[in-house]
Amino acid sequence: MQVKNLGEFGLIQRISGKFESPDQQGFIGIGDDCSVIPKDDLDSYLVTCDTLVENIHFLISNIEPHDLGYKSLAVNLSDIAAMGGIPEYAFLSMALPVETGTSWIDKFLDGLHDLAIREHVVLAGGDTTKSPRNIAIAITVIGIIKKGNIKRRNGAEPGDKLFLTGSAGDSGGGLRLLTEGHENEADQSATDLIQAHNRPKVHTSEGAWIGTLSAVHAMIDLSDGLASDARHIAESSGVSIRIDLDKVPVSESLLIKAGEYGWDVTELAVSAGEDYSLLFAADASESDRIQSAYFEKFGEHLTCIGEVRVGEGVDFYRKGKKVKKPYHGFDHFKK
Ligand code: ADP
Ligand code: MG
Repeated sequence: MQVKNLGEFGLIQRISGKFESPDQQGFIGIGDDCSVIPKDDLDSYLVTCDTLVENIHFLISNIEPHDLGYKSLAVNLSDIAAMGGIPEYAFLSMALPVETGTSWIDKFLDGLHDLAIREHVVLAGGDTTKSPRNIAIAITVIGIIKKGNIKRRNGAEPGDKLFLTGSAGDSGGGLRLLTEGHENEADQSATDLIQAHNRPKVHTSEGAWIGTLSAVHAMIDLSDGLASDARHIAESSGVSIRIDLDKVPVSESLLIKAGEYGWDVTELAVSAGEDYSLLFAADASESDRIQSAYFEKFGEHLTCIGEVRVGEGVDFYRKGKKVKKPYHGFDHFKK
């Protein structure tokens, strides 16, 4: 048997099955966006790591080094946001082919530095090694969170409403432009989508604010795609999730480009991933209050895209009718 038969999630299960969890109050190991390590009575540390590999996560010809530096940190900050925490320290590990240009490295570091400054994250260490062929970037981020603010994937309750910050599908649209020969398109819509893919907005302030809301029961960030990430909440919480496809927010730029190239907008919004919007479940009776407070604070709409029910799995509805087509997210070892 090979790892491709196991799939990414099967592999993670195989790993977690071999190691025991410490008997420590408040410790959370494998299975959420971050691990949680208790600090003191009030606070816990959040720890997350993510790896970007050349030719898997990015093509060197399709992303400016400055953007790649930014994105490498952004994807980690998104996992801290998804728990409701505040990022503090980053560790950067780089595996580089010996031919990598120093000007490329400088620009990469500038991009990472820009986001680190903006988010008040300190680069605290890392590791450097030679790579036989491709570039690999692995970043670990440590954050801090009040114990009462921790939002896990497993707290969604039947009756909750499901909310999404930002929109879905732009990053997937950007990836299609980049990989289908439209990388040089310079109209505003194309620029927006490519930017969403190469330099995703991270919802750090939004996540930290959502963390303070006791009506929010579960949260995750959209890294693998709405279908897959909603399934993570459904499985961890032991509930079923209904998503109304008509309500999933998509940008004007995505609609324009999808119209031009005949893309399936729903497929991109639900399956493509890397949007780094936050998906969360909250008490239905608090819905209006949360939505208006969010708008007041961030000047953007928080969209209710569905609800949590008794049962299992994720069901998609359009115009009130259940959609038969199965949507999947991204799995690293499956094609
Ligand atoms: P995300 O997409 O939010 O970054 P992942 O799908 O990468 O999350 O990881 C899911 C969970 O599995 C996390 O808790 C992560 O710490 C854990 N995990 C992933 N890969 C490994 C590994 N190689 N060893 C131990 N834990 C892992
Ligand atoms: Mg995540």
